[in-house]
Amino acid sequence: MKILKNISLKAYNTFNIDVKASDYAEANDLTELVNFVKEGHLRDKNVLILGGGSNILFSGDFDGLVIRNRIEGIEVKEQGVDMVLVKAGAGVVWDDLVHHCIDHGYGGIENLVLIPGSVGASPIQNIGAYGVELKDVFHSLEALDVNSGDIRSFGKEECVFAYRDSIFKKELKGKYIILSVSLLLSRDHDPDISYGAILDELKAMGVDRPGIREVGEAVTAIRQRKLPDPEEVGNAGSFFKNPVITEKKYHEIRNRYPDMPSYKGALGLVKIPAGWMIEQCAWKGQTLGNAAVHDRQALVLVNKGNATGKEVLRLARRIKASVFDEFGIDLEMEVNVY
Ligand code: FAD
Ligand code: NAP
Repeated sequence: MKILKNISLKAYNTFNIDVKASDYAEANDLTELVNFVKEGHLRDKNVLILGGGSNILFSGDFDGLVIRNRIEGIEVKEQGVDMVLVKAGAGVVWDDLVHHCIDHGYGGIENLVLIPGSVGASPIQNIGAYGVELKDVFHSLEALDVNSGDIRSFGKEECVFAYRDSIFKKELKGKYIILSVSLLLSRDHDPDISYGAILDELKAMGVDRPGIREVGEAVTAIRQRKLPDPEEVGNAGSFFKNPVITEKKYHEIRNRYPDMPSYKGALGLVKIPAGWMIEQCAWKGQTLGNAAVHDRQALVLVNKGNATGKEVLRLARRIKASVFDEFGIDLEMEVNVY
């Protein structure tokens, strides 16, 4: 693998932040990558593994080695009457995998259509949308230890998946390069259409017995209407996580905001849409310097053209402070800041 110097990362992050990496390399081949790690190129270095750059905010130039993971390949490892085990390389575009599975009749990830980024990043925050999370179909992954160059496999329990979270965002952050992900999908899938917006969309499409293709089309239509396309305006999707609060806290806020939307969270907690809170603080559609809050979804921060990462962070901090003052809730960033 060749190390390039002073490479612009603007085309490699969906926020379109114009920064440089002091060292940059692309991994297209597994053996090459393993040898590169074993030769010690990552030792004692500030290393960033980059997929599609759609969940990243660069706050300045990256002084270290960026490795862009481009390992391709989708294969069926095993199949039974109902189930199929599909393995995909970390560099496969996640949405390509979703379409591949829909085309082959493998159900389980159709609700996750049009999520930008790579297969390799999908376990990092246990990607989720429209009532489905990666963990619902996850089987295992293979990862490369950045220190030893050894490859190990992680089962579902070992990934410690939680709401937009996994062990790879915590204890093992930066310690492994995910090489491939295997999913256990269904050949006779009963799609999950419990998320209100999907049902409404299917109704509008005139579909009353949807299969995985129709659900994928419904989610695609909703997302295209509501979310900014990173090709047109720089963004990294939801900037903050939806907070999950105690029932007591929920009732306190509900007394002041009787119309507050809420959903059941894990462990008896209550999930409140962070976008709604940001909207109550009058941030929706607001601009600060070259950064702004999207005018259709307040949870998404956007680059108006020439924003620096610091400008986006300044806006994020102002929003966090407003939400804390109004609701007493400390929003947690979902985007990874480097
Ligand atoms: P990157 O941004 O490149 O990396 C993210 C993190 O993962 C970094 O810390 C990076 O170091 C690490 N990483 C990446 N690849 C590897 C690897 N192979 N091994 C080890 N570490 C790695 N997310 C959702 O969950 N649901 C959504 O519905 C959703 N919608 C979005 C909509 C838009 C318009 C945008 C811009 C983003 C959205 N996201 C959503 C966020 C994002 O698409 C996902 O988090 C996605 O999985 C990030 O993939 P990536 O390849 O771009 O990761
Ligand atoms: P939305 O439908 O306006 O709803 C706002 C929030 O309320 C969502 O974030 C969702 O939480 C929650 N919600 C709504 N209906 C729900 C239900 N029936 N059951 C449980 N929770 C419900 O949200 P949106 O912004 O248009 O996004 C739609 C979906 O795409 C969401 O699942 C969202 O997470 C996902 N998405 C994620 C990103 C990202 O970057 N992470 C970006 C865009 C969209 P959840 O987020 O927990 O689902």
